[in-house]
Amino acid sequence: MYRGRFAPSPTGPLHFGSLVAALASYLDARAHGGEWLVRMEDVDRPREMPGAADAILADLEFFGFQWDGPVMYQSQRTDAYREALEQLKAADAVYPCGCSRKEIEGDQYPGTCSHGLPPGKVARAWRVRGEGDFVVLRADGCCAYQLAVVVDDAAQCITDVVRGADLLDSTPRQNHLQRLLGYPLPRYRHVPVVLAADGQKLSKQTGAAALDRGRAGSLLWEALEFREPGAPPELKSAPLADVWSWALRRY
Ligand code: GLU
Repeated sequence: MYRGRFAPSPTGPLHFGSLVAALASYLDARAHGGEWLVRMEDVDRPREMPGAADAILADLEFFGFQWDGPVMYQSQRTDAYREALEQLKAADAVYPCGCSRKEIEGDQYPGTCSHGLPPGKVARAWRVRGEGDFVVLRADGCCAYQLAVVVDDAAQCITDVVRGADLLDSTPRQNHLQRLLGYPLPRYRHVPVVLAADGQKLSKQTGAAALDRGRAGSLLWEALEFREPGAPPELKSAPLADVWSWALRRY
């Protein structure tokens, strides 16, 4: 059984890049006769924008996405994350780290605390051994994105992750955690991300324009065309439902 998901972070409203990502996983799930779940990745409370989670769900619904089952909220999953962390601790796969951000240059952690906290340092975060010793529990006590995602993908029995290529770097880290935790590894497919005129990824945090509901049909058409050129041009001004029926027939 195929099970896919779309997992937006409520850091701002949906934009064209999110529509492309949602569509990629949705069409893949439907083409496989599978299920498609929505998970609200509100694990990072400080980065959350009030109201964004509801606005995202309302937009998804307005644009015609139909998800299976209830929406999972990461903000309600603290116990599951804590349990996974305990499992990693019991396996000695993680260690406390007392380094501040300023002390670490570059992406790779130099392993300063991996053999025990050096004298004078106090534990701030927890890191996992291997794959660059990345953080699994942040200094503010918040579960890190990488751990939350693998715990939830396993809990939701996700078989296929289709997401933006901006998350390519995360996949080996997530696979590392899945192996340590004894979870099955989903299949992954990364799709091209939409870039703004300045060459940067469209992003909620940098204020990409929210989806314009008045242009829903043509935005969906444009998202299909971005995914794979060849959508019939006359569909661009067709009602949303017609664009969907073409897309669902095609894939
Ligand atoms: N929440 C992540 C984001 O919005 C996506 C996570 C994922 O698809 O694995 O960028």
